[in-house]
Amino acid sequence: MSDFSGVGQLAGKVAVIGVPLDENSSFMRGPALAPPRIREALHSGASNLCAENGVDLGDSSWQDMGDLALASGADAFAQIEQAMDELLAQGARVLSLGGDHSITYPILRAYAIKYPRLNILHLDAHPDLYDEFEGNRRSHACPFARIMQERLAERLVQVGIRTMNPHQREQAERFGVEVIEMREWPASLKFDGPLYVSLDLDALDPAFAPGVSHHEPGGLSTREVLSIIQNTPATLVGADIVEFNPARDPVGVTAAVAAKFYKELVARMLR
Ligand code: MN
Ligand code: MN
Repeated sequence: MSDFSGVGQLAGKVAVIGVPLDENSSFMRGPALAPPRIREALHSGASNLCAENGVDLGDSSWQDMGDLALASGADAFAQIEQAMDELLAQGARVLSLGGDHSITYPILRAYAIKYPRLNILHLDAHPDLYDEFEGNRRSHACPFARIMQERLAERLVQVGIRTMNPHQREQAERFGVEVIEMREWPASLKFDGPLYVSLDLDALDPAFAPGVSHHEPGGLSTREVLSIIQNTPATLVGADIVEFNPARDPVGVTAAVAAKFYKELVARMLR
């Protein structure tokens, strides 16, 4: 194992890893604090470790690998990609706990090599397709522009979108992104081939998940996201939960929502 990322040897089929990077957030920092808060909610004793289908995470083949120790800028992205490479080389399906949404681009650079026909289901209030945002091409507003430019996915399907502007609409057309805007929801989702789910918690209505930096009313319910995770036909090979901002979650309800999705995503990847 390389010392570069230090992810170590995985015991099990699914790896969970914290990616505490929020320097590419455009509006508010905070998501770097998320991974320990999500684990705390998961293990708080407020709920058990069973997913709704009965899979018990207390008795299953997965492992929490802890948090990456990250530098900044391009170095941080290289570290994230390297860590993913190492986990994927061990046959892992990986759930990454952000961090802001910028982390999905280096994660997907590693995934694209292992899965050349990867489908991405991206749940978000925002399309995150800016070519650059406030001069930052690594911004959390840009990851899916980078991913599509580098052809890291066969298909990108976005759900929950409710902040389209002319530039991003143009980008979506240019890259052939399948955008299902919130005003068109519900819709049916179908994928052939391996699926990666990128879950920005602001896809949810802020009534359900207020602990995010960008409150955008009119979003999905917790139940709708659970139903997407549980019922979308596909082989789930990886996922991330990003943009949880503990600084905006004084009662801990968003941490509980993130922990719920954590359980369901790990259980789905264990299938
Ligand atoms: Mn996002
Ligand atoms: Mn968002």
